[in-house]
Amino acid sequence: MHEASVVANIVDAVLEELKKYDVKKVNSVTLRIGDLTQLGTEQMKFAYEILSEGNILSGSELIIENEPVILKCKKCGFEGPAKTLEGGDYSGHSVPVLCCPECNGPVDILEGQSCCVKCMDIETGDE
Ligand SMILES: [Zn+2]
Repeated sequence: MHEASVVANIVDAVLEELKKYDVKKVNSVTLRIGDLTQLGTEQMKFAYEILSEGNILSGSELIIENEPVILKCKKCGFEGPAKTLEGGDYSGHSVPVLCCPECNGPVDILEGQSCCVKCMDIETGDE
């Protein structure tokens, strides 16, 4: 399960970061996940629940923000969202088409590959 190892890395990084503060409680952790990563939201939340057990993250909520795929065409200069295949794949993901929607030219991917912590809602000891 790909999601579990991704979430394990994120939880490790978050716990490391939280050591710097006098944290009393963690309310939520917000992730920004690019559509190109094809990570399942439900699987990630499930993994998070297991991995947050017994540490400071226990009881906190994992919020997942989707990052749409943004392309830039190397040929005509088009910049914008990728087209997606109709219907998506078997798991219900929409599948982005990685070529220019205008001219079918080759593209650079500007956004949609993120997998990072965007913010954390924590309560610290000092008022
Ligand atoms: Zn183009």
